Amino acid sequence: MSHDPNCIFCKIIEGKIPSRKVYEDEDLFGFHDIAPWAPVHFMLVPKKHIASMAQLTPDDEALMGKIMVLAPKLALEQGCRPYPDGGYRVVVNTGTEGGQEVHHLHVHVMGGPRPWLRG
Ligand code: ADP
Repeated sequence: MSHDPNCIFCKIIEGKIPSRKVYEDEDLFGFHDIAPWAPVHFMLVPKKHIASMAQLTPDDEALMGKIMVLAPKLALEQGCRPYPDGGYRVVVNTGTEGGQEVHHLHVHVMGGPRPWLRG
């Protein structure tokens, strides 16, 4: 598993920085965002250090598919109401113009009663 010693999310995955964990398996780590935009706001990240979506290769198809199938299940577990009246927003900021600040690929999952802080 490749880690970047300077990456804050690698440190969270390794337990060197505390987080509020929502999920963990051999490939993925999920934790609450420290500055939530919505009543429910957690992120799913690959344990392997991948800087952004721009670095994905066909070898990562199963990994990213796993995140997309897991996100709805965890969203309900974390308190989002079911589709279609409830639901959630799934966002992957990529690069500077995409609003990415932490350069370890992360999938934001946001939901819960509105209004939200952003969006
Ligand atoms: P943005 O800051 O514009 O949302 P990103 O998509 O790169 O950019 O998101 C990084 C997210 O990581 C932010 O929502 C931020 O609140 C969150 N974050 C930063 N540090 C921590 C931390 N130690 N624990 C949990 N979440 C964190």
